[in-house]
Amino acid sequence: MYLVQMIYASRISTDFKTQDIESILESAHKNNAALGITGLLCFSHDSFLQSLEGSRKAVNEVYQKILNDQRHQDPILLYYKNIQQRNFVDWAMGYVSSSQMIRQIVLKYSRQSEFDAFEMSGDSARALMIELADNIPVQTGKARHTA
Ligand code: FAD
Repeated sequence: MYLVQMIYASRISTDFKTQDIESILESAHKNNAALGITGLLCFSHDSFLQSLEGSRKAVNEVYQKILNDQRHQDPILLYYKNIQQRNFVDWAMGYVSSSQMIRQIVLKYSRQSEFDAFEMSGDSARALMIELADNIPVQTGKARHTA
């Protein structure tokens, strides 16, 4: 079974409430662990950036479900590739909030130090997520959403 990694960005919808982060992460931990999916979810102000990695079948199944979720909109696929190894193997779904974004790391991969997933290429988004995961205590379990 092929191992793939995908990254997409989306914007919160008018249905979105800050508390939704917690239920999104609860669903992700439960479902992703059962499907062998790992990944990272970044949230900043009004946008999500998420990486999903695992078998091609499982990643596509979960992505289809995510696309139908009314809590966000305007999804844009930034990156999709067969991979040899995972980058976020420690997390069924790790979480990085806007308050944890390190401006210097964001600036390294963007035109500005303000995080905007829609202004990034797939390669830059991937590199940013890997570097963030290496440099901050990625949250697991219940989200302590502070942004
Ligand atoms: P449950 O996990 O049993 O649902 C848990 C709770 O969430 C319930 O209280 C339910 O009312 C509420 N809920 C479920 N779906 C919705 C919805 N569409 N709108 C409002 N409330 C809802 N799911 C994953 O499995 N893996 C992921 O990596 C993942 N990432 C996500 C990233 C983003 C940005 C968003 C917006 C959603 C993500 N989700 C993810 C959630 C996904 O869209 C589905 O909601 C979820 O997979 C449903 O799981 P479930 O059927 O097991 O429901």
